[in-house]
Amino acid sequence: MTSSDLNEELEFRYSGRRILVTGGAGFLGSHLCEKLLALGAYVIAVDNFYTGQRRNIAHLVSNPYFDIRIHDITFPLYIEVDAIFNLACPASPVHYQYDPVQTTKVSVHGAINMLDLAKRRKCRILQASTSEVYGDPSIHPQPETYWGSVNPIGPRACYDEGKRCAETLFFDYWRQHKLPIKVMRIFNTYGPRMRLDDGRVVSNFIVQALKGLPITVYGDGLQTRSFCYVDDLIDGMLRLMATPEYITGPINVGNPEEFTMRQLAELIVQLTGSKSTIVTMPLPQDDPKQRRPDIQMAKQILGWKPHVSVSDGLAKTINYFRDALASDLKGSSRDVFARRRESVVS
Ligand code: NAD
Ligand code: UDP
Repeated sequence: MTSSDLNEELEFRYSGRRILVTGGAGFLGSHLCEKLLALGAYVIAVDNFYTGQRRNIAHLVSNPYFDIRIHDITFPLYIEVDAIFNLACPASPVHYQYDPVQTTKVSVHGAINMLDLAKRRKCRILQASTSEVYGDPSIHPQPETYWGSVNPIGPRACYDEGKRCAETLFFDYWRQHKLPIKVMRIFNTYGPRMRLDDGRVVSNFIVQALKGLPITVYGDGLQTRSFCYVDDLIDGMLRLMATPEYITGPINVGNPEEFTMRQLAELIVQLTGSKSTIVTMPLPQDDPKQRRPDIQMAKQILGWKPHVSVSDGLAKTINYFRDALASDLKGSSRDVFARRRESVVS
């Protein structure tokens, strides 16, 4: 399919439709809202600003086809929509472990509420699942057929098991209620609009490099991850949602280019021209040692593969963080933990 054929197909699927994006003020959610608006959709973003930021969607709020609703998806939601992208959930280990009970709730109760809404509306629903369902994998690269290796009682379990249970719910609604579902297993994705204090490796290393602070490599830095640029990821997500009904996934979407954390640190130091040194810090418990997606299925079913190289994607992300740091110095951002405490209490 050529890119103009694909665009026509996507416009046909999304134009004039009311599309709900949960987690719409987050990193991935805000990029998705932007692309859906460009395809002619009417977008309703739902977010409780747990980790989301108003500045991610500030450029969208004056668009008459965009609505933002402050809502916690662990509570039911009754609105009229034609399709649902379920992205609401903190994704950085620091953030999802801050209030692990809430993380499980958003994954499980949130999934039930969104699946019930889809059931009532008889509409499609896509789940933003994760490579974390594979845990600390013993098969490499990870194909969708691998059942994973997850510690069910460790500090990452709130996220890993929450997302696994969400997948279970999606497939039970599909089997039991014939609901048209799409499950996408997202591998590490980075890009503009990650928080300065997101805590994930790409944002940490870039912020440290730009500030001339030591780059914090956890453990020996030989653990690996494979990094996908946000535009590629959103392209894969739009394609998956537009597939025929019998395609349910799960489908891996990610960039198979694999790096050790030490290599990533060196690349970011080089791209920023920073004088930062690399220091080591303790490895967090249950940190997966190796991760790389097998993307054969995405290639065959979605006609998808990543196009943005890691050095190009990092260069764009570094530019974003340079600007974000400059505006942060002017006091536009507040402590994430304070913000999260407020949203949990309210
Ligand atoms: P993010 O933290 O930037 O975005 C999550 C959004 O969900 C935020 O805007 C947050 O405020 C919102 N949210 C959290 N709890 C909510 C609740 N109870 N009700 C309503 N909104 C709530 O993270 P992200 O990287 O954009 O991730 C988006 C989704 O993609 C998540 O579901 C995540 O698990 C999944 N994912 C992301 C990656 C990645 O590398 N970025 C990898 C795998 C999976
Ligand atoms: N990491 C690191 N330094 C940091 C943040 C993370 O070395 O400042 C490591 C972390 O231990 C893990 C990898 O980078 O091995 C990816 O971590 P991240 O939190 O980005 O995502 P994960 O894939 O673990 O969910």
